[in-house]
Amino acid sequence: MDSAKLGISLNSAQLDKFCLYYRELVCRNSTMNLTTVTGWDDVVETHFLDSLSVAGALPSEARAARNFIDIGAGAGFPGIPMKIAFPELCGTLVDATARKVEFLSDMVAALELTDMGVRHSRAETQAHCESIREGFDLALARAVAPMPVLAELTLPFCKVGGLVALHKTAAAADEIAAAHRAIETMGGVIRDIIRTGGDNKVLVVIDKIRSTPANYPRRPGIPSKRPLLGLATSQEQTR
Ligand code: SAH
Repeated sequence: MDSAKLGISLNSAQLDKFCLYYRELVCRNSTMNLTTVTGWDDVVETHFLDSLSVAGALPSEARAARNFIDIGAGAGFPGIPMKIAFPELCGTLVDATARKVEFLSDMVAALELTDMGVRHSRAETQAHCESIREGFDLALARAVAPMPVLAELTLPFCKVGGLVALHKTAAAADEIAAAHRAIETMGGVIRDIIRTGGDNKVLVVIDKIRSTPANYPRRPGIPSKRPLLGLATSQEQTR
C-alpha cells in the first residue's frame, strides 16, 4: 500500500491494521452492503488512500489537529484510515444507520483504536449536543450528500479556526458553486478545492471563520429537503 505518495509513512503495525480492516470489510460485505469494490488493490485505492488524501492535501493541518469527526462514516471512510495513520488523533464516527454503526464499533474494537468514539445518530441531532458542537479541529465527510446539504451537516461540528474537508469529484463543480450560501450561513468560507486523484477527485476545504448560528442544522431531513441553495457571486463561480 503506497501511502508514501501522499507523504505518509506507515509502520508494520499500521499496515497490519489495514490488512485486518480489509479482511473484515470484505467478509462482512457478504452479508451487508459496505463496499462495491472488494479486491485488495481496489480497496486500497478507492477507500484507504482516498481517505488518507485529506492528510496528503493538508499535511500541516492534519498533523496539528487534535481531533476529527467523520459524518456519515458508513464502513469507516475516511475516519478509520485517518485514525490508523494518525493514531494520536481523537476520532468520532457518526452514522445514522444502525448496521453500519455496529460494523464501525466492531472495527474500532478489532483494530484496537483508542480514543475513537462511534455515535449512532443523524448529524442534524448530534450537532445540537453541547458536548461535541463546535468541538473538532477537522470535520470530514465523503459521499454523504450534495454540498449545500453537507455544509449544514458538517460545519456545526467544527471549531472556529478549524477546517472542514469534503471529498467530492470535479463533476460536483455546480454543486460546489451552489453551496456558497449554505457555507456562509454555517460560518464557513471555501479556502481551496484541491485535486487529490487522477480520476477527478477533489477535496473541498472550508475554513470555519464564525460560530454557526444556534438554529442550525435544522431538524433531521430538512437540510436535504430544503437545502440552503444560493448562487455564488460571479467571482466565486469562476473558481
Ligand atoms: N463515508 C462513507 C459512507 C458513504 S454512504 C464512504 O465514503 O464510503 C453515506 C452514509 O452516510 C451512510 O452510511 C448513511 O447512513 C450516512 N448518512 C446519511 N445521512 C446522514 C445524516 N444526516 N446523519 C448521519 N449519517 C448520515
